[in-house]
Amino acid sequence: MTQTIAPPTTAIQPPNLHDGPRVIRINAALIADAHHSFAPGSLILQVDDDQWIIHAINTQAAIDQLDLPSDLRTLDLPDQIIIPPLINAHTHLDLTHIGPQPHNPSEGFVPWLDMIRANRILEDDAIAGSVTLGIEKSLAGGTIAVGDIAGAPNAILKDIPIRTLAHSPMLGTSFLEFFGIGTTATTIIDALQTYLANHLDQLQQELHNTGVTFGLSPHATNTISIAVYHRAAQLALKHNIPLCTHLAETLEEREFISKGTGPQRGFLERFGIWDDSILSEIGKHEHPIEHLHPVLKQLPILCAHVNDAPTDDEFGNMIELLATTQTSVAYCPRAHTYFGHYDTLGPHPFQAMLDAGINVTLGTDSIVNLNTPDRITTLDDMRLLASRDQTPMHTLLSMTTTNPAHALRLDPNAFRFESGHRPAGLLSLAVGANHPDPWSSVMHSGSSPNWILFAPKNAVKTGAD
Ligand SMILES: [Zn+2]
Repeated sequence: MTQTIAPPTTAIQPPNLHDGPRVIRINAALIADAHHSFAPGSLILQVDDDQWIIHAINTQAAIDQLDLPSDLRTLDLPDQIIIPPLINAHTHLDLTHIGPQPHNPSEGFVPWLDMIRANRILEDDAIAGSVTLGIEKSLAGGTIAVGDIAGAPNAILKDIPIRTLAHSPMLGTSFLEFFGIGTTATTIIDALQTYLANHLDQLQQELHNTGVTFGLSPHATNTISIAVYHRAAQLALKHNIPLCTHLAETLEEREFISKGTGPQRGFLERFGIWDDSILSEIGKHEHPIEHLHPVLKQLPILCAHVNDAPTDDEFGNMIELLATTQTSVAYCPRAHTYFGHYDTLGPHPFQAMLDAGINVTLGTDSIVNLNTPDRITTLDDMRLLASRDQTPMHTLLSMTTTNPAHALRLDPNAFRFESGHRPAGLLSLAVGANHPDPWSSVMHSGSSPNWILFAPKNAVKTGAD
C-alpha cells in the first residue's frame, strides 16, 4: 500500500556503503549546533562500530594542530555552513496535496477550516500519496523528523498516515487526531478505546525500530471536552503514548472558552455538535491555558501554537502557569503570520516562554500556510525569525534540533556536535559570495539545504524510555 521513499542523496555514504578512508575532515565557513559554533570550522568524522562518530570539532586552526591520519579524506566546503538536520515539531503531512493556499485573516479561522474540510481526502491510497509528498518535501528541506498530525476524515481513525511515515526514511511521531465535544464526546471515547484495543499491539510491533512513534492528538480546546482530554491523558499514561494538541491558537478560541460565544460556537452549532452540556465546562472566564491546565499538569503534552499567552491581563500570567507543567510548545512562525495573529495577538511570546523554562520548538503547520511550495522545513521559519526578530542563531537551532528532539522522544545528543556523539545527519547550506557573516547570509537567502550525512537511526533512543 505504501510506496518506498528513498533516503536523500548525501555527500558522505553510511560506513557500510563507503569504501574510502575511515576518517573524514569537513571544513566549512561555519559549523554550528544549538550550543556551539566554529567559524571557519572543522569536523572530523571517523567510523566506529559501523557508524560515523564525531572524533573532533573545533576551529580549522585548532584542528590543524591535531595529529590526523595521513589517508584521511577532506571535504572542503568554504562557501557552506554545516548544521544538524532539522526537526519539524508540528505539521500535517496529509494536507500536502492541497498545496499553499491564499488566506484572508480578516475573514476569521472558520472559513479556512471549511476549505480544509472540503479538500480532505478519504481514500487510504490518496492519503498515503499526500503524506508521501509531504515526506519528500520535508527531506528536500533538510527535515529528519516530524511531529505529524494524522487526520481522521469523517471521524474514521486511520493507520495509513503512520504506516506511511514508518516506511519512510524519516523519524517522528504520528499523532492520531480526533474530535470530541458535545454530541460527539462519548462516541469518540468508545471509538478510541476500540481502536487501541484492536490496533495498538500490532502497530507497536510494526513500528519497532523504525524511529516512528504512535501518538494521540485530541484536536483543540474548542473541539475536545475536558472530560475527553482527561480520558486521552489516562490512555496516554496507561500505554505510554505521547500526546499533542492545538492550544491557545486564536482569539476566537479564547472567546469560546472564556465566554462560550463566538464563531467557534457557531461552527459546532452548524454541524449539530453543540449541546448545552458544553456550557458546564466553558464560559467561566478562564483562558484556554487555564482551562486545559488540569490536564497539562498530568503529563508532558506537545501543544501546537500557543499564540495567545497573556502575562499581565485579566487572566493573570499564562506563561507562568504553563511553566508549572511539562508542556512543550510548537510555535509555527509562518502559520502565525499567515493567520494574522501577529496583528491581532502581537508577536509570539516564545522568548518569554524559553526564559520561563518552557521547551519551545518550531513547527511549520501544514504546507497550506507556507510560502515554500517545494519544501516543508523549519529552516524557513528560522529565516523568518532571524530576519524579522533578530532571533539569535543558537536559540533558532535549539528550537529546531535539541528541543523538539526532547518533545518527540528522540535523542538530543544526535543533534549536538560534540566528540563521541553519533550525528543523526549533517546539512550544508550555501553562503552568499563575499558575505562577511555566513549565518546571516544563509538566514537571508532562500536556498535549499544539501544533505552531507543522513543517519536517522542515531537519533532513535534504545531501551526503556
Ligand atoms: Zn496544526
